[in-house]
Amino acid sequence: LPRDQRIGYAIVGLGHLALEEVLPAFGACKKSKPVALVSGNPEKLQKVASQYGIKPDSCYSYEQYDKLKDNPDVQVIYIILPNSMHAEYTIRGAQAGKHILCEKPMANSSAECQAMIDACKKANRKLMVAYRIHYEPYNRYVREQIRKNEYGKTKFVDAYNCQSSANPKHWRHIKALAGGGALPDIGLYCLNTTRFILGEEPIEVMGYAYSDPNNPLFKEVEEVCSWQMKFPSGIIANCATHYNVHDSRQYRIMTERGWYELANAYAYSGQKLTTSRADGQIVRQENVSITPKNQFATEMDYFSECILDEKAPYSTGEEGLQDQRIMEAIYQSAREGRPVKL
Ligand code: NDP
Repeated sequence: LPRDQRIGYAIVGLGHLALEEVLPAFGACKKSKPVALVSGNPEKLQKVASQYGIKPDSCYSYEQYDKLKDNPDVQVIYIILPNSMHAEYTIRGAQAGKHILCEKPMANSSAECQAMIDACKKANRKLMVAYRIHYEPYNRYVREQIRKNEYGKTKFVDAYNCQSSANPKHWRHIKALAGGGALPDIGLYCLNTTRFILGEEPIEVMGYAYSDPNNPLFKEVEEVCSWQMKFPSGIIANCATHYNVHDSRQYRIMTERGWYELANAYAYSGQKLTTSRADGQIVRQENVSITPKNQFATEMDYFSECILDEKAPYSTGEEGLQDQRIMEAIYQSAREGRPVKL
């Protein structure tokens, strides 16, 4: 689309994700453009604005956030703040008459998720949770193959998403800001992507969480969480997430006559898909190669398309709420040491 017809985005929170991934990704967008910035740091605001050609009067502090209402260039507010701020800024953004793209996890509780959904409905604005994996071509390919039962019925999923995290002062290690530890931050990818690929909702979970009591990083939030999900078709998913091991993020989906293994499954790039299929006695392994896309550009252009074509986005607020409900059940199960039905 020509620049004047593209959907205008206000970026809220100029942290790591916004500066390193989202703002540069606009360069690969065809339907979206950055038009406003919101930040608590005036010097950074000015510097980033000049870098991306944002007008000085389209730069706001958090105190001035509600003034976005009077900025006709802004159609979408993209919230890239600490998790505890997602609910408030979504609700105020919808009240300012803007569509909302909200980073994952949607919020820190299912009650907050529900309030966000209600506020966007009331304001008649669209709400999309930024589940970039839904728009990533390798994961979409696996989903298609699984939905077609290409190698027979799916039986078992094994998924993990782990990274190491070092700064105990960062909001990710403060429960009031992060909501939890490894689970809502990175374990969420295993949960959400498994649901996305299978197209089923778990009916029961069993969870296990642990934090090293001597490590200051994990005084407030869990270091590791592992959990199983039981699905109505009989599929069991075994998932795990860790905040204190070297990066590893992949899954294997096992079916009656084959498997799909996606390395770097949840990373910004570098997905590597291996499949194995048995034809009688012969087992064939293959690497599947798909042209990658900038995940952030794809996601933003998808949301812009939803606005231009007046259609509902795939990753709605209800989708974020469902993940939050399941995470709450996983924590409950870990606390009580028993399976929890959903
Ligand atoms: P950062 O800590 O790097 O950035 C958060 C920004 O929020 C800060 O730079 C700051 O911006 C603003 N902020 C406002 N109030 C506070 C506060 N009290 N404490 C700290 N920061 C504050 O976080 P990330 O960019 O890594 O994460 C932001 C969100 O994006 C999270 O919800 C996270 O889960 C999500 N995320 C999603 C990813 C994905 O792949 N979809 C990947 C990484 C993160 P300023 O200085 O401009 O005010």
